Amino acid sequence: MKMFNKILIANRGEIACRVIKTARKLGIKTVAVYSDADRNARHVAMADEAVHIGPSAARESYLLGDRIIEVARRTGAEAVHPGYGFLSENAGFAEACVKAGIVFIGPPPAAIRAMGSKSEAKKIMEKARVPLVPGYHGDDQSPELLAAEAARIGFPVLIKAAAGGGGKGMRVVESAEKFADALAGAKREAKASFADDHVLVEKYLTRPRHIEIQVFADGHGDCLYLFERDCSIQRRHQKVIEEAPAPDMDPARRKAMGEAAVAAAKAIGYVGAGTVEFIADQDGTFFFMEMNTRLQVEHPVTEAITGQDLVEWQLVVAAGGKMPLAQDQLTIDGHAVEVRLYAEDPARNFLPSTGTLLHLRLPEESAHVRVDTGVRQGDTVTPFYDPMIAKVIVHDRDRTSALRRMAALMGATEVVGVTTNAALLKALCAHPAFVGGEVDTGFIERHRDELFVKAGPADDRAIAVATLARIAEVQPAGAADPWDQKNGFRLLDTGHDEVRWKDGERDIVVIVRRRRDGTLGLELPGGSVEATIRRHDDGALGIVLGSDTFEARVVRRTLNDGAIEYTSFAGGESRRLLLVDPLDVTQYEAIASGDAAVRSPLPGKIIDLRVKAGDSVSKGQPLLVLEAMKMEHTLSAPADGKVKSVRYAVGEQVTEGAELIEFEDAG
Ligand code: ADP
Repeated sequence: MKMFNKILIANRGEIACRVIKTARKLGIKTVAVYSDADRNARHVAMADEAVHIGPSAARESYLLGDRIIEVARRTGAEAVHPGYGFLSENAGFAEACVKAGIVFIGPPPAAIRAMGSKSEAKKIMEKARVPLVPGYHGDDQSPELLAAEAARIGFPVLIKAAAGGGGKGMRVVESAEKFADALAGAKREAKASFADDHVLVEKYLTRPRHIEIQVFADGHGDCLYLFERDCSIQRRHQKVIEEAPAPDMDPARRKAMGEAAVAAAKAIGYVGAGTVEFIADQDGTFFFMEMNTRLQVEHPVTEAITGQDLVEWQLVVAAGGKMPLAQDQLTIDGHAVEVRLYAEDPARNFLPSTGTLLHLRLPEESAHVRVDTGVRQGDTVTPFYDPMIAKVIVHDRDRTSALRRMAALMGATEVVGVTTNAALLKALCAHPAFVGGEVDTGFIERHRDELFVKAGPADDRAIAVATLARIAEVQPAGAADPWDQKNGFRLLDTGHDEVRWKDGERDIVVIVRRRRDGTLGLELPGGSVEATIRRHDDGALGIVLGSDTFEARVVRRTLNDGAIEYTSFAGGESRRLLLVDPLDVTQYEAIASGDAAVRSPLPGKIIDLRVKAGDSVSKGQPLLVLEAMKMEHTLSAPADGKVKSVRYAVGEQVTEGAELIEFEDAG
């Protein structure tokens, strides 16, 4: 086998960086491609060469197969790694690579095609004797026949778009009376999303687990499995936490699932890395769901427990080599958990959050911790691509230790500039039921109340940290006696000063008194306490608060409306407070009155309007539905009020920040 000298990575973000890392380890040169939005991206900086391929929208850059092949030719890349998403499961692109004499690092085009349709895939699997969810996946699409099949399968059933992906065109149907409507809805959605309204009907499992098998095959006829991953913790049918091995997996079932997955791969002449996804009942019975013909986002947990580098395996196999190990040489070591840290707001139905990463402190890598990321502090999360900030992977001796470690890491993750799901990930990893082994796809919904804990009022400690940071900031570091500085902090001349905060609707006043010995007396809402503060070289604050000594970090930023926000990180908790500058009355009023309009949080398309001018709405009432980043987002009224005008109609495109709905002045 002759390894490649140079490869092109037809992707971006963390997966592009991850592929470059292994290429570099093997002495392979890399070519990155990038769009306008990614000019300064991490993957561009990491690659040996980088070529601009077009505007920010993926269909004008990362999805342009011909242009990417042209770049590979021009730069002398011998192979293309597609990563995941984008062109990775595009049989036409794989074929075009082969035609151009470039190796596609992935399976043969025919294997991609065979798995492209859920119903075709099921027919192939049925022949290969891979267990299927009881259901109907035939060509006859008459509503009467489908309804009869649903009755035969037994309710509840799930209608799925044959061409589906990303949970689109899926409908759960509880009873026969509801079948016709649900079928029409699923077909409509399938037609709109995939230009193909073919559906299949299958038994809906009520508390299923998502367990998938990593398979690998080379061009010499060998095919094996690298055990399973449990990806049951999902939101909107998308994975949030993945782990390996699966909790409570017994060796006999592991073998049965592994062999079924290998049979599936062999049935389509598979070569390279692939994943066979199964849905499993609580009793362990498992059924084929689909096969992903590429490297998965969650492959690192498999790498952690097997000690293998799957991208290295992909490169070896694509270069015509044999797999490095045989089935009986593979073993499982310990337990690995991966979380997907997203720029999104769980409290707003996981609405993606875009913005600049003003402050970013991800966990540090170690023997136990791996961080795969495509961004650095200062980068921007744009609406053009998946808003994932990083994958954090923990490898430990057992599941409990891994989850405990992960919960701590999520508590210590610091992000300012976008909203993240870090607190939810922490709550999940620390949730007694999840730690105890309760794992199924409904977990997040079922435990919503415990997982989406609304931050209560800021406690004294958080208020003290922000106040001390404010004081340390106003006092230049190293000043002998900061209180001699004439820099405006000392607003009152009575020997004490006030720092005022706004915590949601609540006003907080902290009185600060300086003692002769340099300590500070803080009068907080809950009582008085003595404090000292020191700024370390790395920007962290060393704080003594009463008898409590700890480190904190505080990041200050100015919001769009001019308000000044302090985000504090201490003891695994983060908290945001708005500074009320007593000299700036306009700012105070802006905060107090709120915005009299609902703006678009992302660029997107209005797909539903629920109100019109003149309507009275109450706080929290849904106003409109926006489709952005391939998902639907419902925007609700921020307060009680009366709609003055609706600026857009259904079907119109809107830009980020566009004023969608204006309210009458509360007066
Ligand atoms: P997509 O390709 O749109 O992502 P999948 O077929 O992969 O759709 O299914 C996505 C998710 O939907 C699964 O991970 C699982 O949570 C749920 N799901 C799929 N099939 C069933 C079923 N028969 N019963 C219950 N849940 C299912």
